[in-house]
Amino acid sequence: MSHPLEPIYALQKKDRRLIKVLRELKDIPQRKSDIEAQLSGSKQKLETAIKSRKHTETTLKELELEVESLKERVVKYKTQQMEAKTNDQYRAFVKEIGVVEDEIKALEDKEIRLMEDLEQGRKIIEECEARLNTEREGIADELAELDERAAELTEVAEQMKTDRARSAEGCDRALLQKYARILKNKRDFAIVLIEEGGHCGGCHMKLPPQVVHDARNPTKIVSCNFCGRIVYNPSI
Ligand SMILES: [Zn+2]
Repeated sequence: MSHPLEPIYALQKKDRRLIKVLRELKDIPQRKSDIEAQLSGSKQKLETAIKSRKHTETTLKELELEVESLKERVVKYKTQQMEAKTNDQYRAFVKEIGVVEDEIKALEDKEIRLMEDLEQGRKIIEECEARLNTEREGIADELAELDERAAELTEVAEQMKTDRARSAEGCDRALLQKYARILKNKRDFAIVLIEEGGHCGGCHMKLPPQVVHDARNPTKIVSCNFCGRIVYNPSI
């Protein structure tokens, strides 16, 4: 007689393939968001570069206003200097004008540095934008491939489920329930073969001779005393 475990053992092979497909399918959304996360790094860099440029522009504008007001002050001092009544007053204005002009010179030097920064910032922004665009194109392909893969896997899984249901019809009900319970618990195999030397194919512990003996008997369903998986010995 054929062993009642035979159809369930065949079913387990199908289930293992189905589980693998479902697992890959389940991982796809995470893989997609991992890919999208690469982009967020470049987006961040671009935003930082834009913010930094805006800050430089604001500082530059403030400096320009400051220089303008200092220049007005120089004009005012020069007018007052012309109206000086004494030599001391005249010299005091010369001194004041000198101080303000030094200040203007320092600010103008600062302006030049800021303008250089702006130029540098513009290059960085261009580089970031180019990189982001390239990355966007790159991930668009990757994301599309994953979507295709998901569609393919969904279809395959549906076919496998139908096939599996058909195979399950040929299995003993009670045994099928026991199998499902163990598989849910162990997550890899519910039915294992006995390895050479009488070891369990699941946990590899040495089985008692009685279990090894009974596993050959089609009228008996035996389990490993250690891991609880059903042991099957179809070759003998
Ligand atoms: Zn075991």
